[in-house]
Amino acid sequence: MNLSNLFRGMRKQSEQQEAPSHWVKCPKCLSLMYYKEVEAKHNVCPKCAHHFRIGAKERIALLADEGSFEERDANLVPIDPLKFVDKKSYKKRLEESRSKTGGRNSSVISGSCTIGGVTTELVVFDFAFMGGSLGSVEGEKIVRAVHRAIEKGCGVVIVSASGGARMQESTFSLMQMSKTSAALHRLHEAGLPFISVLTDPTMGGVSASFAMLGDIIMAEPNALIGFAGQRVIKQTIGADLPEGFQRAEFLLEHGLIDLVVDRNDMKESITRFLRLFLKED
Ligand SMILES: [Zn+2]
Repeated sequence: MNLSNLFRGMRKQSEQQEAPSHWVKCPKCLSLMYYKEVEAKHNVCPKCAHHFRIGAKERIALLADEGSFEERDANLVPIDPLKFVDKKSYKKRLEESRSKTGGRNSSVISGSCTIGGVTTELVVFDFAFMGGSLGSVEGEKIVRAVHRAIEKGCGVVIVSASGGARMQESTFSLMQMSKTSAALHRLHEAGLPFISVLTDPTMGGVSASFAMLGDIIMAEPNALIGFAGQRVIKQTIGADLPEGFQRAEFLLEHGLIDLVVDRNDMKESITRFLRLFLKED
């Protein structure tokens, strides 16, 4: 191989490596856009308003006032009480998720912050960590956030992005549904607001517990929200499902959620409700 061929080969390889990280193709309108164009809109397609999934860190940057977020309970580490093994061991899956998310121990990031100047306890799920599944650590972090809110007299905002309960923890995981629901009942008794934000996807044990207990339940456009998956339901009832089934707009139309909010209006909307419930100006 002569040198010019070698360089051509190297250039081709580097172009191939760079292309995916600089250009984004919208799965809905199929537009090809420079990534900064999409990023500037908080990962909402500027052409058709398709909401790309975002991680917990981006979500916190979007909602919490700049520099106000202080993470809590990051040191809580999941144990493996059942020594669970499916295709891989639970331990191995945790290690993989840990390295994928820069050393995090759970699928939620929780902390204290202000949103639009209002003191708030914020809990955000990250789908990148084991599909945002709800295990013992996630449940405990939610309960601690609620308890902090009761102590301070402030509201709680939970942003869900989850496939549901974490099957590797079996019953320990299912118990988090009642544990988080009970904590939110105490918040309610204290007269403090809980705003639940449902993003794509919010499924299974998460939608069947705290995510649907919000004083206000808001969802991002077109987010998939439900309990069982569509294929399972279709097989069980033996009928085709209506168009838009389990999507945010369908749920709004049928009265299961209160509003569908564009990601770029989310902070303003949450701030308005927090102020209203807390009777702040
Ligand atoms: Zn688009």
